[in-house]
Amino acid sequence: KWEDILQTVKEEHEITQISFDTWLKPLEICTVDDHKLYILVPEEMNITGLKYITRRYELPLKVTIAEMTGIEYELVFVLPEEAKKLKTSPKKQPVTSELAERSNLNPSYTFDTFVVGSNNRFAQSASLAVAESPGEAYNPLYIYGGPGLGKTHLMHSIGNFILEQNPDLRVLYVTSEEFTNEVIESIRTGNATAMTKLREKYRTVDVLMIDDIQFIIGKESTQEEFFHTFNVLHAAGKQIILTSDKPPKEMETLEERIQSRFEWGLMADIGVPDYETRMAILRRKVEADEMDLSDDILNYIATNIKSNIRELEGALNKLLAYSNLVKTEITMDIAMKELQNIITPDKPKEITPQLIIEVVSEHCQISLEQMISKNRSSAVARPRQIAMYLCKNMTNIPLESIGKLLGGRDHTTIMHGVNKITEEYETNENTRTLIETIKKKINPN
Ligand code: ADP
Ligand code: MG
Repeated sequence: KWEDILQTVKEEHEITQISFDTWLKPLEICTVDDHKLYILVPEEMNITGLKYITRRYELPLKVTIAEMTGIEYELVFVLPEEAKKLKTSPKKQPVTSELAERSNLNPSYTFDTFVVGSNNRFAQSASLAVAESPGEAYNPLYIYGGPGLGKTHLMHSIGNFILEQNPDLRVLYVTSEEFTNEVIESIRTGNATAMTKLREKYRTVDVLMIDDIQFIIGKESTQEEFFHTFNVLHAAGKQIILTSDKPPKEMETLEERIQSRFEWGLMADIGVPDYETRMAILRRKVEADEMDLSDDILNYIATNIKSNIRELEGALNKLLAYSNLVKTEITMDIAMKELQNIITPDKPKEITPQLIIEVVSEHCQISLEQMISKNRSSAVARPRQIAMYLCKNMTNIPLESIGKLLGGRDHTTIMHGVNKITEEYETNENTRTLIETIKKKINPN
């Protein structure tokens, strides 16, 4: 019956599926007291979500309930805490829905590809509120959290959603780096039209999104330009959305006047996902990529990569690349081997001369025996010299010891090898690339 009421509200008010799933579906009847109907709001929505729901959905709900029951209830939205006093049990509902994509934004970053967990539910609902009523719900919306936790994804979701609802709105997404570069460029050109153009571009939008705003710190003219852009847009009721790796007050050297602007609207943080959320994200991606991976493997990844969703996805991509290449089923053994560089058992691999020699020999397809042999043909001597060079540059061991490890060569031979590669590195692009590639293999970080 409650479901019917919600469904009717949805239809009568043409509420989108995503809005419905986010705001209405999680609501539950808590208790009825005379003509008061208590409605339970999930804890994660907290007081901010509750206020938003009240503002936007109280009236539609009230009207529909009156129509369907013939009783005019007063609606009271309550969080679990208050509800406990009344009696109830909270329940959470994940959000899924279908949404189309838009250009200029990454079309695959939408609300429906965003897995909601307790770590991001608040940020997700705040984002959706902004997407539903740009300029009206919370302005600015400031999303912050560590790297790879979904800030950019959420930001694009808002943009895609807004354009989906209203293709006429002008939505602009930039990274703060792009913004900075444009400011610098217009200053460098030094003519007034460049500046005017920049202002026209940024001050006439309906929705401005700047990603990773922390990077404008310390860049004076960029901060200045941003400050005025912010004021113009905000005064005109245009939506501003920002992301950062930390809350405004922790951006220590950011000008105070800008800091306080950030706090005008709503700040929402995204935390580290719990195990269930990590598994859900992995499952979603496995499905999307039509991969065939056992739960054991997903579990292995989710257990070992905890604090960065980008790395979580990176692990899957690595396995995907492997299976495309080798065309075999991925077993747990393969997964563990392939992922050993990503999933580091606590401490990073130590860089030893042995490791360097091994990696060089593998990369150049020379056996270890050949590496230490007396063979002086260039096919063998060159990789050997590269190993000398890398040992000298990546470790602290003396030339004599490098010589010993490489087949008992004396230190002038090592010196010669090191010098030769050093010179090549400086003059030959291919050598440089080769060395950098091998270095990356030795030390992926
Ligand atoms: P941030 O901007 O916080 O560094 P991103 O938004 O770039 O992080 O997210 C990194 C990757 O993880 C992206 O590919 C993104 O799609 C994915 N991702 C992050 N959070 C989620 C989530 N809740 N559900 C699905 N994918 C996610
Ligand atoms: Mg980002």
